[in-house]
Amino acid sequence: MSSFGLKLENHFARLGEGFFTLQSAEKVGSRPQLLHANPKAAALIDLDPSAFADPRFTAAMAGHLPLEGFESLAMVYSGYQFGVWAGQLGDGRALLIGQVRNTRGELWDIQLKGAGRTPYSRFADGRAVLRSSIREYLCGEATASLGIPSSRALSLIATGETVMRERPEPGAVIARLATSHIRFGNFEHFHYAGKTEKVRALMDHVIAEHFPGLSGAELFGEVVRATAIMVAHWQAVGFAHGVMNTDNMSILGLTLDFGPFGFMDAYDPHFICNHTDEQGRYSVINQPGIAHWNLRALAVALSRVVPSEALVEELKKFEAHFAGHYRLLMRAKLGLTREDEDDDRLIGALLAAMAKGRADYTLTFRQLPRADVDWLDRFGAARDDAEAWRIRWRTRTQGEDLSGLDRVNPKYILRNWVAETVIRAAEDHGDLAPLEQVFRLLQSPYDENPEAEAFASPPPPDLCDLEVSCSS
Ligand code: AMP
Ligand code: MG
Repeated sequence: MSSFGLKLENHFARLGEGFFTLQSAEKVGSRPQLLHANPKAAALIDLDPSAFADPRFTAAMAGHLPLEGFESLAMVYSGYQFGVWAGQLGDGRALLIGQVRNTRGELWDIQLKGAGRTPYSRFADGRAVLRSSIREYLCGEATASLGIPSSRALSLIATGETVMRERPEPGAVIARLATSHIRFGNFEHFHYAGKTEKVRALMDHVIAEHFPGLSGAELFGEVVRATAIMVAHWQAVGFAHGVMNTDNMSILGLTLDFGPFGFMDAYDPHFICNHTDEQGRYSVINQPGIAHWNLRALAVALSRVVPSEALVEELKKFEAHFAGHYRLLMRAKLGLTREDEDDDRLIGALLAAMAKGRADYTLTFRQLPRADVDWLDRFGAARDDAEAWRIRWRTRTQGEDLSGLDRVNPKYILRNWVAETVIRAAEDHGDLAPLEQVFRLLQSPYDENPEAEAFASPPPPDLCDLEVSCSS
C-alpha cells in the first residue's frame, strides 16, 4: 500500500451511514497500462509527477492497489433523467479512492471511473471503454483550460480487458479530480426517500466545506449563481454537455460526467450532441432553460430544510446571473470593452448570420480581428449579412485595442473529429502520439501552433457526421 505522500482525509465518510457504501475496486483487467497522466492535475493534489513512473501509481489509479489511509466508497444518488424521475442511481462505475487536502487548504476528490461494479451498478458492468475515457480525459482539460469550472482528469489507464458495448471494445479507467462530486441527485435521493435529516446533514456538509457560515438559502443562491455561470461559459464556447440530468449536475457548478458532449463546429443553436437525445431536450439552445429546470428540482429537494419563499427568491436570480455573465463573456469575445445598450443586438445579429451561413463557431471569433477576406468566406449564404455586421462591429470597436482577443477566443477546442482521430490512433494502432499532441494543444487553447493547424479546422468530410451516444 502507498499514498504517494498525499494528505488523505476521509471527509465524505464522516457523513456516516446511508450516503455511500464502502467498496473496494474490482481489480479490472490483469495488465493495467498507464496511457497518459496529467502533471497539472497532479499539482492540484500536491502529487509529484515523478510518481507517474512508479508502477504503484498505475496500480492505484487502476483500482488494483488502495491508497493507504482511505477506505474507498461509492456514493448513492438519484435523479431526473431526460425529465423523468429515474429513482435510485449512484456511482455505478465510479469510486472515490481518496480525498486530498492540498497545501492551499482545498479538498480534492480522487475518483476512479470504470474500476468495476458497485452496489449501484444496477444491471451494468461497472466498466468504461477506452473511447469514452479518452474523451473524458481530454475534455476535462479542454474545459478547464478555457476557464470553465470542471472536473479534471489525472490519469488514463488501459485495463487490457475487453468490454462489450455495441461491439467489443478495449476497457479503461480514468482517475478524475473535483473539489466535490456531490450532485443535485444526492439531495434528491434523500428528499424523495423522506429522509429529511439526511438532506439537512448533506447540506450542512457542503456548507461547512465550501461555503462556511452560509444559511441553506444562501447556499442555494450560490448553487444558482455557479450553475448559471457554468452554463454561460458553455454557451460562449459552443459546448453542449449532452446529458444534463440532475444526477450529472454538480452542487459546486462544475462541469461533470463527460459523456456524449460536443463542441460545435458549424454554429447551430439547435445542435444536439447526444445521438440518443431525439427530442433535443439537451440541445445547445436549451441548456440555460434546462439548468433552471434542474435548479428548480434541487429547490424541491431542499424544500423541507430551507424555507420555500427563500428558495423561490434565489431561483428567480438565475436569469440575471446567466444573462449577465453570458453578455460579459460575449462582449469580451468581440472586444466590446464599453457597455452599450446595443450589445445584445450586435451579439444576436452575428449569431443569426452564423446560423444562417453555418459558420464555424470557434474560427468565426478567432479570425474576426484578422484583416483577411477568409472571414466572410465562412458565412456561405449569409455573406452579405456578415459583411454588414462587420461594418457595424468595426464602427463600434474603432479605437479599441483588439490585440488581446486571441487570449479570449480559443483556437483549439475538442472537436469531435479531433477526439475521434486520437481514439482511432490509440485504439487501432496503439499510437499515443496524437493523444499527447492534442492534450497539449487543449492545455493552451489560445496559442498558435503552426505544426498543428489541422486540429483547429472544421471536420474533414469523412469525419463530419460522427454519432456520439450514451453508450460508453
Ligand atoms: P450517466 O448518464 O453516464 O451519468 O449514468 C447514469 C447512471 O448510470 C450513473 O449512476 C452511472 O453510474 C450508471 N452507469 C452508467 N454506465 C454504467 C456502467 N457501465 N456500469 C455501471 N453503472 C453505469
Ligand atoms: Mg453521470
